[in-house]
Amino acid sequence: MLCPCGCGEVLHMSLHPDGRPRWELTRHPDGTVSLSPSVWRKVGCRSHFFLERGRVRWCK
Ligand SMILES: [Zn+2]
Repeated sequence: MLCPCGCGEVLHMSLHPDGRPRWELTRHPDGTVSLSPSVWRKVGCRSHFFLERGRVRWCK
């Protein structure tokens, strides 16, 4: 996915069960997805956010 902060970076979240770190993608009946845990970039823009039901919720 493209970083939601607008910096233009492409973020890769591993969903592979053996990968570390890894994220869990939950598909909801309404077609949206949630990602857990939060995404926290340690480099670049240092964005920290949750993806909940297709919407980005920023962490302060
Ligand atoms: Zn960014």
